[in-house]
Amino acid sequence: MNIRTPYKVKCSECGAENQLNMELECVSSYERKKGLDLEYISTFEGACPKCGGDLAVQVRVWEYPEGFVESYTVIMEGAVKIEEPDFINEL
Ligand SMILES: [Zn+2]
Repeated sequence: MNIRTPYKVKCSECGAENQLNMELECVSSYERKKGLDLEYISTFEGACPKCGGDLAVQVRVWEYPEGFVESYTVIMEGAVKIEEPDFINEL
């Protein structure tokens, strides 16, 4: 599972659109009834190229059963969500 990039967010300081290159990293997996339950995290930390404001975005995804997004959360600081993340099944 990976996140489709660029993931677009808006700077909460100046409103500029920022295109983030993010990559999911598998941080945990365990066996459940229907197979593996996988958890991924992707963190972006950087500065808005227009105003220099700090941007922090974290996407967490739970994949279960394999190949399906069970749920996800997006946390942002200094940025505003303008689109939902889209996930790609790399299998
Ligand atoms: Zn900005």
